[in-house]
Amino acid sequence: MSETTRPTPKRPCPICKSTPQTGEFAPFCSSRCRDKDLNRWFNDGYALPGRAADPEEIAREED
Ligand SMILES: [Zn+2]
Repeated sequence: MSETTRPTPKRPCPICKSTPQTGEFAPFCSSRCRDKDLNRWFNDGYALPGRAADPEEIAREED
């Protein structure tokens, strides 16, 4: 094998760019950022007409 594969120890959270204190929610720093990313996906591509999306849940996303 010529490819060197080693685990990256710490990567910044893709949402808030802060360094995660735990790998529990990797690659995010917390469940909050993880949910935020999830909501972004839902808003972006999964909010299809006819799908039973909960508007309240999406609107609860704080900035
Ligand atoms: Zn974060």
